[in-house]
Amino acid sequence: MKEINEQEFESVVLKGGKVVVDFYSTECPPCEALAPKFEDVANLYGEHISFVKIFRQGNRELVEKLEVQGSPTVLFYDNGKQVAPMISGGIKKSELVEVCDSMIPAEASQKIHDSIKPVNTHCEALIIGGGPAGLAAGLYLCQAKVNTILVDIQLPGGQVSTTHQVSNYPGFIEPQPGFMLSHFMSEQTKQCGTKYKVAVDVAQVDLQNKTVVIDDYETITAEKIVIASGASPRPLGIPGEKEYKGQGISYCATCDAKYFENKEVIVVGGGNSAVEEAAFIAKFASKITMIHQFGELTANKQSAQKIIDNPKISILFNSEPRAFIKEPNKMTVEYENLETKTRETISADGIFVFIGMQPNGSLFGTQLETDDWGYISTNEDMRASIPGVYAIGDIRSKKYRQITTAVADGTIAAIDISKSL
Ligand SMILES: Cc1cc2nc3c(=O)[nH]c(=O)nc-3n(C[C@H](O)[C@H](O)[C@H](O)COP(=O)(O)OP(=O)(O)OC[C@H]3O[C@@H](n4cnc5c(N)ncnc54)[C@H](O)[C@@H]3O)c2cc1C
Repeated sequence: MKEINEQEFESVVLKGGKVVVDFYSTECPPCEALAPKFEDVANLYGEHISFVKIFRQGNRELVEKLEVQGSPTVLFYDNGKQVAPMISGGIKKSELVEVCDSMIPAEASQKIHDSIKPVNTHCEALIIGGGPAGLAAGLYLCQAKVNTILVDIQLPGGQVSTTHQVSNYPGFIEPQPGFMLSHFMSEQTKQCGTKYKVAVDVAQVDLQNKTVVIDDYETITAEKIVIASGASPRPLGIPGEKEYKGQGISYCATCDAKYFENKEVIVVGGGNSAVEEAAFIAKFASKITMIHQFGELTANKQSAQKIIDNPKISILFNSEPRAFIKEPNKMTVEYENLETKTRETISADGIFVFIGMQPNGSLFGTQLETDDWGYISTNEDMRASIPGVYAIGDIRSKKYRQITTAVADGTIAAIDISKSL
């Protein structure tokens, strides 16, 4: 693999046939995560495609011309033309492979896939999920000299990475931007020695035999497995939701409320999180309409009263969204009045959905005992129903889900593991 600069771009990339270019930066954890995958893919496809790297900070003119805005960013060229959209951030190996496959004849790509040799890796503790719970467990385990691997389908940090500011994590006098707090946590655990395999595809988790397959070819076996895959916002599952997620529909007020300064917003939900998030969005938006399925808000009385008293907020009770429709510069919700069974529409600049969270547990199927909502049941040492398997953080059945409770769970599991190995 070759490193080039902007002067060589024309001859090496634009006139170079099939070329994949990685724009990277220094001190960039996602670039470090991509580097070994990029090299692996270059080794696999090198006979058909050239792979080059360009240092982003040292080649600013080219970076601006190509509108490369983040590190790392990968571009795909064939005879001087981009043949796929550029990809950026936490790039998975499967994403690179998918585009490379599309750039070469089917027989050639089949031959490459047939040549991939499976890899087996063993560790003492395998952590699935790199949010605060998994990172705390990783820290304690590596400090106890337990050989530990942490896998994550994204970059480490978990929900904290997308939290605007965190003011209730002990040790910081001033509120911390969520991405900085998660960066500190992640670097501390990495520098301690926990091995990261992040932005990978995680599949085939066999908890009885303690094996996990990542990126289709690497099987990791462990003596203990720690599940720390957290929770995600629950979707409504109605037409238009998947299509317009991130393009008019948001699940994170702290991430997106700022884009609705003096704009109109629809909030779906009426429980504690919907009410708290609506109050936060009201600092920006000029008008909020809440759509709630019951006849009164189900949040705690004090917070609910604040919403009712807020002149910017009105509520459509006994109503449920049935479809989201995107129109030029507007989002429309078709909703059903559950009392009259009639359907109406309402439009705004954006939609926020807060109807609760769901555990990220689909990978584990029915292997473990869970509560009625799918959160994994454990004892107080975080041991789940299969010996040697632990569950920590938001995925665990418990009452309070916070960063502090997630790191506490991680701590307990790690100490229990290090004493029992
Ligand atoms: C908008 C928002 C604001 C918040 N603000 C605060 C706050 O101010 N203070 C506070 O204390 N708490 C706050 N919380 C709650 C807090 O973020 C969570 O309680 C905490 O992050 C839980 O940590 P966790 O490690 O259990 O899970 P998560 O943070 O959810 O991390 C789970 C990790 O697992 C990974 N993962 C998921 N599925 C898989 C898989 N199949 N294989 C491998 N990896 C997987 C994810 O990519 C992720 O990195 C907030 C939450 C949200 C959504």
